[in-house]
Amino acid sequence: MSMARRDWYCEDVLTGGLDVRRVFEDDLVLAFHHPRPVAEVHVVVVPKSHVSGLMDEAALDGDLLTSMVRAVQQTATSTGLLDGRGFYVRANAAAPGVTPHMHWHVIGPGAGADWPETGSKI
Ligand SMILES: [Zn+2]
Repeated sequence: MSMARRDWYCEDVLTGGLDVRRVFEDDLVLAFHHPRPVAEVHVVVVPKSHVSGLMDEAALDGDLLTSMVRAVQQTATSTGLLDGRGFYVRANAAAPGVTPHMHWHVIGPGAGADWPETGSKI
């Protein structure tokens, strides 16, 4: 048995099975409010096509990366993250227990810069 986590991005979010509050979307990526946020603003940016993670060859796609960064920029602008208190983008490159679909967390103040190592596991 594999211990890999379910790919809930492909299985639930991108199928439309789980209703998420969308922040930004284009042909390649979707950004949405995390259903279990660790901070007041906690948005997840994912490719619409399956990319297993940052170490995946598919992550090198220039158009995809442009869309990922544009989603981060639009999220920061539209959710009030540019108020001077700062925000960060967290991407697990490879770690056990991480959902096997590339996802970047855009997180405002409150979660702690060391999240998730010392916080809740999402
Ligand atoms: Zn996937």
